[in-house]
Amino acid sequence: MKKVLVIEDERDLAELLAYNLEKEGYQVLITGNGLEGLETARRELPDLILLDLMLPGMMGTEVCSSLRHSDKTRAIPVLMLTARGDEIDRVVGFEMGADDYIVKPFSMRELMLRIRAIMRRSNQEGGNSERQISTGPVTIDCGSHRVTVDGTEVELTSTEFKLLLYLAEHNGRVMKRELLLQDVWGYNFVGDTRTVDTHVTRLRNKLGEAGDMIKTVRGFGYKLEE
Ligand code: CA
Repeated sequence: MKKVLVIEDERDLAELLAYNLEKEGYQVLITGNGLEGLETARRELPDLILLDLMLPGMMGTEVCSSLRHSDKTRAIPVLMLTARGDEIDRVVGFEMGADDYIVKPFSMRELMLRIRAIMRRSNQEGGNSERQISTGPVTIDCGSHRVTVDGTEVELTSTEFKLLLYLAEHNGRVMKRELLLQDVWGYNFVGDTRTVDTHVTRLRNKLGEAGDMIKTVRGFGYKLEE
């Protein structure tokens, strides 16, 4: 059974989330405190974390970046729950590494669709484990989920890894933002394409000079080209 950790201090919302997640067949762990949430994540290694931004104990942003700095928890998908629109840029911004976000108040149905997409995506990641893709100085190892640039390892989140792999698999071809949302994020509905832009920017920064291989095609999308 897949395990979902809910870190949310609004009790009513946390309980509503737990109710809906359990109905979907997930095992649910709840905590209303950031620090406790981080400890629970490290101990339980859930398949997904729903993380509120404003939390007592430790802010959601700090929880997220702490998760990303540890080998054990780096690949756990994190979906941020954020209250205000103006925090979005920060949420999907560079320093934190959330995989996606949803703005409160959100529809439970939309949230469940996104969660299903994330779970489907992580199920697929088991395959093709022997494969290695090299493009320019970048080598992508599908088995270990490791990426190196000129032999030096680059630490990527699961979404950044999937995005890079997808662009590399379609080397030289322009991929529309909507298509990336569909194939990398697993969305079969129209999502916010800003998520794609911020992840591409973050990925470029992490790749250093090799990041220039990811080209923006204005008004359309992205392509990877040596
Ligand atoms: Ca809160």
